[in-house]
Amino acid sequence: MFSRDLLDRQIRRRLTENTKVHFLEGGTVTGLLANTQGTAIAGVSVRFRDRQNPGNINEENLNADLVVDASGKVSQTPKWLKKLGYEPPPETVINAFVGYATRI
Ligand SMILES: Cc1cc2nc3c(=O)[nH]c(=O)nc-3n(C[C@H](O)[C@H](O)[C@H](O)COP(=O)(O)OP(=O)(O)OC[C@H]3O[C@@H](n4cnc5c(N)ncnc54)[C@H](O)[C@@H]3O)c2cc1C
Repeated sequence: MFSRDLLDRQIRRRLTENTKVHFLEGGTVTGLLANTQGTAIAGVSVRFRDRQNPGNINEENLNADLVVDASGKVSQTPKWLKKLGYEPPPETVINAFVGYATRI
């Protein structure tokens, strides 16, 4: 058995060995950027907070050929797409009928 934190740490360690992968830490994605024709997503806007000086906040636009949303169940992609004038994709909710139980 291993914890989720250990798994995350091991995957991260392996990724840091890949020189093509760069980590940008302490950033929160705040929106999507469209290309000038408005036909494709061309990047994201990110808010970086200075860890030494939390009052210092920098907003940056990161351009990208491909944007993958891996923000989990708090994903704001549908909202951000709507803000850019796109129709958000239809959502499918699947009930996995999972329940938890515990006892001493
Ligand atoms: C209490 C609990 C117990 C669980 N137990 C199990 C289990 O035993 N087995 C199992 O298989 N699953 C379990 N799960 C479910 C599992 O954790 C999730 O299904 C899984 O983590 C989803 O992975 P993900 O990569 O899609 O999203 P997440 O793991 O949620 O990762 C999303 C990441 O995106 C980051 N993020 C979000 N918004 C932004 C933003 N705007 N800018 C930058 N970063 C952002 C978040 O900080 C987070 O690090 C459990 C969940 C909970 C809450």
